[in-house]
Amino acid sequence: MEYTALYRKYRPSRLGDLVGQQHVARTLLNALQSKHVAHAYIFTGPRGTGKTSAALIMSRAVNCEHPIDGEPCGECAACRRIMAGASMDVLEIDAASNRGINEMRDLRDGVKYLPAQEKRKVYIIDEVHMLTTEAFNALLKTLEEPPEHVMFIMATTEPHKVPVTILSRCQRFDFHRIAQQQLFEHLQKLVSLEGRTADDSSLRVIARRAEGGLRDAVSLLDQCLVASDGELSARTVSSVLGIVDEKFMLAMAEAISEHDGLRIVRGVELLAAEGRDMRLFLQQLLEFVREQLLQNMSGQKTLLTRQRAMQMLRDLVEGDQRLRFSLTPRLTLELALLQAARMPEE
Ligand SMILES: [Zn+2]
Repeated sequence: MEYTALYRKYRPSRLGDLVGQQHVARTLLNALQSKHVAHAYIFTGPRGTGKTSAALIMSRAVNCEHPIDGEPCGECAACRRIMAGASMDVLEIDAASNRGINEMRDLRDGVKYLPAQEKRKVYIIDEVHMLTTEAFNALLKTLEEPPEHVMFIMATTEPHKVPVTILSRCQRFDFHRIAQQQLFEHLQKLVSLEGRTADDSSLRVIARRAEGGLRDAVSLLDQCLVASDGELSARTVSSVLGIVDEKFMLAMAEAISEHDGLRIVRGVELLAAEGRDMRLFLQQLLEFVREQLLQNMSGQKTLLTRQRAMQMLRDLVEGDQRLRFSLTPRLTLELALLQAARMPEE
């Protein structure tokens, strides 16, 4: 049997199923129900937040024979054709690999013809900011006078790179990073749909690591499920994701707060020897210190004082930025931790 990636297997088929993008779903559904669908949309937002999924659902919604409250039925011939990627009238163009003017010229000629099978021709242009200036100009010509039977849906992670002339002809929707709690709940749902079990802490680690991207969260879950037999544990997740264990983290935080430079240097040495990702470690440490600060503010007893936690956060955030571009990550991490430790200078 062929293995289908979880992200594909559970791709949403209705706008209402988009995770964390209710503001987008509501407005699009209103437009569909009142038959006020625009000719051109641009979906912007971080990677893996559902832009392309939404575009595909829209292409079905406008062509569905029996839409239900604006949503595609998923069963009519049009829905099936489009879902199978077999419709001649729904065209996906990946601008990242088709930067050329030729594709846009073809598009400009193609839009003149009536759809072959569906009610509406839908052009989905992914990563639209990658188009060349000439290609943008060709696209603009089409957007200026779009034929009645055509709809454009563009998606981009970098809207500032799309010419204003294009943006001004589109209805824009901003997709948001998805909250950790929402990602967590979605992962829980997928685990049970897969007939598996996972302890909560393991899914929280994945949700945190995905940084608001649904696709990343689901792909990470996929990897972790493949790597484990029984219940998915935080331990498996940590080892799949290359995360250091809690005890080590605590020891490093302690060393920093006690100004113990030698222990810090040894700790970093250990990370390097195990081939760990330095930046990932720093981010984990940041998360830990932040957690301490939150606990302190809510009146709980904590390892770090409030003042100490805030100062460490400032130093570590600075270190994280330097580490992002560092060619010597080990040294940069070491320096950032020593700085956070505020060693007394004699
Ligand atoms: Zn349908």
